[in-house]
Amino acid sequence: AHLDRIAQVDGQVHSYLHVDGEGALAQARTVDERRAAGESLGALAGVPIAVKDVMTTKGMPTTCGSRMLEGWVPPYDATVVTRLREGGLPLLGKTNMDEFAMGSSTEHSAYGPSHNPWDLERIPGGSGGGSSSVLASFQAPLATGTDTGGSIRQPAAVTATVGTKPTYGGVSRYGLVALASSLDQAGPCGRTVLDTALLHAVMAGHDPMDSTSIDAPVPPVVEAARAADVRGMRIGVVKELGGEGYQPGVRARFDESVALLEQLGAEVVEVSCPNFEYALAAYYLILPSEASSNLAKFDAMRYGLRVRPEGVQAPSAEQVMAATRDAGFGPEVKRRIILGTYALSSGYYDAYYGSAQKVRALIARDFDAAYEQADVLVSPTAPTTAFRLGDKLDDPLAMYLNDIATIPANLAGVPGMSVPSGLADEDGLPAGIQILAPAMKDERLYSVGAALE
Ligand code: GLN
Repeated sequence: AHLDRIAQVDGQVHSYLHVDGEGALAQARTVDERRAAGESLGALAGVPIAVKDVMTTKGMPTTCGSRMLEGWVPPYDATVVTRLREGGLPLLGKTNMDEFAMGSSTEHSAYGPSHNPWDLERIPGGSGGGSSSVLASFQAPLATGTDTGGSIRQPAAVTATVGTKPTYGGVSRYGLVALASSLDQAGPCGRTVLDTALLHAVMAGHDPMDSTSIDAPVPPVVEAARAADVRGMRIGVVKELGGEGYQPGVRARFDESVALLEQLGAEVVEVSCPNFEYALAAYYLILPSEASSNLAKFDAMRYGLRVRPEGVQAPSAEQVMAATRDAGFGPEVKRRIILGTYALSSGYYDAYYGSAQKVRALIARDFDAAYEQADVLVSPTAPTTAFRLGDKLDDPLAMYLNDIATIPANLAGVPGMSVPSGLADEDGLPAGIQILAPAMKDERLYSVGAALE
């Protein structure tokens, strides 16, 4: 059914970069055989899934939305993908994304943008807009994402789907093409909170292949999603997120969601996180710094693309690298590599990267203080509903501002989730509410998310 749906609508939505129909059907048959042989399989066995193209898949192309990796077929699976296969989830294919996960709209994909199924002229969010649009257009019931600054939560918000960024270290990063290693976190995307929790449980858990993976039991996310109980819970509304710059309709739906939580027995308090104001600036120094280092491996020798510089008789290795990186990386990637190498250069390191790391510590302290007063924090997920394709493409700062509410969680490593809060009055488009919890208390996200559903 999903393959039929893909054939019908993906020409317009463009969620997928690669579809593996035969592979998915073969995996589905294997699940039937495993079941017939008496193997007890998990809740999601046989349920197909779409995988963000930032995750390596053995034998299936992985491009990261970049020309640099066009045609690359990884020789191994990311740990997340291994767990999906073991859980019996057939892989439908790979979803579109902003190049190397840099962006908030999928417009930075080298293969063209994905479209928002609510209005095809609008963005489905980013960088995981392939995964959000795949769900909203019913081309897959589940998808995976990665969230470095909001790429799971913001796409979920603008497509009325659900997405979780787990606690940093909660889901293995092994086999994810790294953007910024201290911020990257893989997570589940679904259409309902319970679906998302079930997928979370399959993806999460300790992995010795990832040195930052947390060796602790997976938080009881499925139980929390089933119970949907917020009685006695203290909900902290973050004063600094949701005021100026937020669309009135987004704010109105957010306020209603908070009122609903109160009706359901939660206690609502206001909390202040004064350093969140500097989160965006710190993020856009830390991320490019780490990205410039991570992307150095695309040197024309080891992976993917290799371009021969034109008109050079016997090009040096350096000339081949320069020609390849010039042709293989898009403008946003180049912008960030330049920013990152600048911020890390001697003489500027303390002023930029060093200061950003200090801000990061202050933001973590804001969270600690807020969690003394509240069990979870809430805010609108994104300041606006989906904007039109092309609207912010020439204005990087306007694009970056989409993540103003989601970035603090990445800087502090705490978990966050977006669930639909309703449609904004101005434009009838979906808005989302973001829920944040202390590290390794991911189950609280699901208690609140499920209560709101
Ligand atoms: N939009 C943010 C960025 O461009 C988020 C990226 C992400 O979470 N992968 O950096």
